[in-house]
Amino acid sequence: MNIAQLNTGGEIFYSLQGEGARAGSPAVFLRLAGCNLHCSWCDTKHSWGRGVAMEEKKLAAQILGYESPGLVITGGEPLMQAAALEKLLALLPETLYVEVETNGTLAPTDYLKERVNQWNVSPKLAHAGNGAAAIVPHALAAFVETGNAWFKFVVTGEADWDAIATLGLPRERIILMPCATTREQLETARPAVVEMCLQHRVRFGDRLHVALWGDKKGV
Ligand code: SF4
Repeated sequence: MNIAQLNTGGEIFYSLQGEGARAGSPAVFLRLAGCNLHCSWCDTKHSWGRGVAMEEKKLAAQILGYESPGLVITGGEPLMQAAALEKLLALLPETLYVEVETNGTLAPTDYLKERVNQWNVSPKLAHAGNGAAAIVPHALAAFVETGNAWFKFVVTGEADWDAIATLGLPRERIILMPCATTREQLETARPAVVEMCLQHRVRFGDRLHVALWGDKKGV
C-alpha cells in the first residue's frame, strides 16, 4: 500500500477529525498516496506522488498501537488503492470505526461497502478546476446507496449552490464547508457559507483542524 510521504516517512498520525459529521472525534489518520484529480486549491498536493510503500501488516500494527476508537483513511484518493485497503481493513478489528474520505469519482467495492462505517464524499465543483472528470454520477449514486455517506462540498459562495442542487443528493446528508487553508481565510469565508446553509437548509461544516492548527501538516 502506498502512503503519502511527509518528511521522511509515511503520513500516519493521531489527531481529531477536523471535518464532517464526526468533527472533533479522536482518530488515527492514514493518508494514502495518489489522486485521480488535481484540484487547484488542494491542500495535500504532497499526496499526489507515489508516496512510501508500506506493508499492510505493519500498518495495521501501527494503527492499533495508537489505541484509537477511530480510523480515518484519507488521501489523495483512497479508492485508487481499493484492493490494498481491503487487505488492511481485514487486519483490523470490526469495532474500529472506519471513515473514508473520497472525492466520489470511484465507486466503493462490495467489501468496502460492508466494512466502512462512514463515507465522507467530497465531490469537487468547477472552481477546483478538474472539468467533467470531477463528477461521476454512477459513483455518487453508489455512495448514496450505502446509506452511510455524507456529501461535503467546499464552497466559495452562493454561486456554487446550483451545481450542488443538480446532483440530486439527499439534502439531509449535505454539508457545506468554507474554502480555506489558513485561520485568516477561514474567518473571512465562514459567514457566506453559514448564510448558504441557512438559506438551503443544509448542514454547516467547519474546518476544525484549520481553526486549531492552521495549515500545519501531520496534525
Ligand atoms: S481530490 Fe482531494 S486530494 Fe485529490 S486533488 Fe482534490 S483536494 Fe487534493
